[in-house]
Amino acid sequence: MNYLPLFIDTAGKKCLIVGGGNVASRKLIPILKSKMLVTMVSPNITNEILDTIEGAENFNHEKREFIDSDINDQFLIVAATNDKNVNAYVAKIAKQHNILVNMAEDSSVGNTLIPSVVDRDPIKIAISSGAASPILTRLVKTKLETVIPYSYSKLAEVMMEYRSKVKDTFSKIKDRRNFWEVFLDGPVSEMVLSGQIEKAKKALDQSLLEKKILKRTGEVYLVGAGPGDPELLSFKALRLMQKADVVIYDRLVSEPIMNLIRQDAEKIYVGKQRADHAMPQENINQLLARLALEGKKVLRLKGGDPFIFGRGGEEIESLIHDDIPFQIVPGITAASGCASYAGIPLTHRDHSQACIFVTGHLRDGTVNLNWKMLAHEKQTLVFYMGMHGSKIICEELIKHGLKETTPAALIAKGTTADQEVIIGNLKNMPQIIMDNKIVPPTLLIIGDVVTLHNKLKWFEPLSKKENSFYY
Ligand code: SAH
Repeated sequence: MNYLPLFIDTAGKKCLIVGGGNVASRKLIPILKSKMLVTMVSPNITNEILDTIEGAENFNHEKREFIDSDINDQFLIVAATNDKNVNAYVAKIAKQHNILVNMAEDSSVGNTLIPSVVDRDPIKIAISSGAASPILTRLVKTKLETVIPYSYSKLAEVMMEYRSKVKDTFSKIKDRRNFWEVFLDGPVSEMVLSGQIEKAKKALDQSLLEKKILKRTGEVYLVGAGPGDPELLSFKALRLMQKADVVIYDRLVSEPIMNLIRQDAEKIYVGKQRADHAMPQENINQLLARLALEGKKVLRLKGGDPFIFGRGGEEIESLIHDDIPFQIVPGITAASGCASYAGIPLTHRDHSQACIFVTGHLRDGTVNLNWKMLAHEKQTLVFYMGMHGSKIICEELIKHGLKETTPAALIAKGTTADQEVIIGNLKNMPQIIMDNKIVPPTLLIIGDVVTLHNKLKWFEPLSKKENSFYY
């Protein structure tokens, strides 16, 4: 491909678009953004174009067919009518006059390609496969969109703002490069990426005042890993998983998710089985702080969402106490994950107007909850950690007014290849749990929405043929 990728200052330059249909509409959007003065020649233009140009001062529509003199003084021409011959003709005369011309439907006919762009302004990545394959180009674009954080725009903006200040402070190129490398590798760039701009600027100002590079301090990422299926991770979670030096994880983080962590990262298990607290919470808090104070990037990876029955609050509190930079990345909580993968909507216009997440954790052999508030029709209850307390939970709900026949679902290992869904009701669920060897983690969903499972189930766990059981 004999093309030179080039970024040109186009503000105020003239652009002619011949055509006013869908193809012209697609080309118009990036061209308008580039501040060119656009003339569109076409007897008609689509409503979509009318929407695009609303409020634009750099657009002018000539409601007629193309004439040769339209090409005069143009910097760029886009031939985008629905008539191939017209497009080829426009391209031919433009080329004769050495004008840049793009033929939208067949780029080999023109002399200019308009690339696909991954836009993190001021960072722009232009992608083109020549005339080879627009589908391939789109695929590459999608891949890049997922790995380049959206907030790189902000990062570039901050770096731009500090460029001259850093230059004034450090006269040697080597020192400047070092300064920016430490910035990009450490917590201050993460502050920018996670939206703590003022905090980041304070740190930058302080280090410039002291004429020193930023301190190589550690930081903590408190990340929700979701309920099990690795594809339910967020982009941000994945990025931080691949950046961390050390990972603190527990039992709920599934193996396929652990496999996505940076290979050479140190992994520390602080797992909790019920009644088998491998490491007391207090020690976990201290461990996070100690590792971060040693200068490490510490990933605290949690099942589901860190702020839903995840003790995320406690862990962060101790970091704040020690002034350790941190960020929190939400995850898909077990209730959302299990409900979706079991085909049980948590709310439904006909069945449930509210949904309550409750801990069913047994403490001193009992479950102490506001049963009066929980035992209402037309609402969904989701019990986390509820399997061992299920007998008390079901009995109390019946005692406080729910029917014995109120549907209940127990979802084991939700969203994973081993997911099982057991459907019963308040009366029989405790016995079902006693009679079957159910492997945790499990989630208990109670309410009329459970009846929808039979109709809406869709997920087929790989390891099992039979995975819905009705009682
Ligand atoms: N922070 C987590 C919850 C931690 S409490 C979240 O937001 O999901 C642990 C409880 O979560 C388990 O006892 C179980 O009730 C539930 N749980 C977590 N993952 C689950 C899964 N894959 N399937 C079923 N229940 C799950």
